[in-house]
Amino acid sequence: LSQLFRPLDLLGMVYRTVRQGVIDMGAMFDLIDTPAEVTDAPAAVPLNVSRGAVRLENVRFGYDEREILKGIDLDVAPGSTVAVVGSSGAGKSTLARLLFRFYDVTGGRITIDGQDIAQVTQASLREAIGIVPQDTVLFNDTIGYNIAYGRAGASREAIHAAAHGAAIAGFIEKLPEGYDTRVGERGLKLSGGEKQRVAIARTLLKDPPILILDEATSALDSRTEAEIQATLERIERGRTTIVIAHRLSTIVHADQIIVLDAGRVAERGTHADLLRLRGLYAEMWTRQQAERDKAEAAE
Ligand code: ADP
Ligand code: MG
Repeated sequence: LSQLFRPLDLLGMVYRTVRQGVIDMGAMFDLIDTPAEVTDAPAAVPLNVSRGAVRLENVRFGYDEREILKGIDLDVAPGSTVAVVGSSGAGKSTLARLLFRFYDVTGGRITIDGQDIAQVTQASLREAIGIVPQDTVLFNDTIGYNIAYGRAGASREAIHAAAHGAAIAGFIEKLPEGYDTRVGERGLKLSGGEKQRVAIARTLLKDPPILILDEATSALDSRTEAEIQATLERIERGRTTIVIAHRLSTIVHADQIIVLDAGRVAERGTHADLLRLRGLYAEMWTRQQAERDKAEAAE
């Protein structure tokens, strides 16, 4: 299983490397051999997910000296959907990465069903969480393989069902070699929206008790988004879901919405609560509605 996350770890590393201005390839490959920042605790035990309650207690984190999250408290009830919103750079994706334990928190803790995620094995944690990231990495292999990555040994039927669920089956069936078509760097190039749908199919197949959607429909056109949105709302049912959203219209149904601002939870409540509050959320909502009306008028 750890193999599955190597490309993602690598990506994070490349990102950090580029950010530090070290784009020399030699230096980059040196870094690959350095031990991962996150390791299993000596007494790590497998995570035991019973209800899927996720809890953040005064979580603090920074990639460097600059603190990005300055004490986040959040209770995600089992099976409920929490939406995280906030301006770009607010730390929404960072929160998702911490839940998946790509990094360790620098203060506070995150628990799942009462178990500190820093004290369980990473393999068991990552098995319990399905994540549809903002940018999906595809492997240089067939599209079928890319979908099946969430579950080794998945049957053809299960792969096809997942592709249907993610509204990408029609696209795949039209390809010359169908599910055996090679994609990625050395194969067919997929658009952002197509890659996102592959990631959604992967997650459908994995069928995890906890789901993280990081702007999962951001790269899709509005028609496909509406199509996928229905699917996502269906798979959210019965699972604990944390959804990071840019377009607020996609999270109106959330049980709880938190607004991140300057590293803190500035507002929390349901869509109706937050509109009534007339704060940051209400402002974002009004702005997005106006943009939508303008776009519709222009059509
Ligand atoms: P959001 O998803 O809300 O747009 P992010 O969580 O991606 O925000 O980023 C929050 C802040 O952390 C930003 O200022 C971003 O530049 C910074 N950041 C994100 N990833 C890294 C990283 N790997 N190393 C250093 N800084 C990072
Ligand atoms: Mg983000």
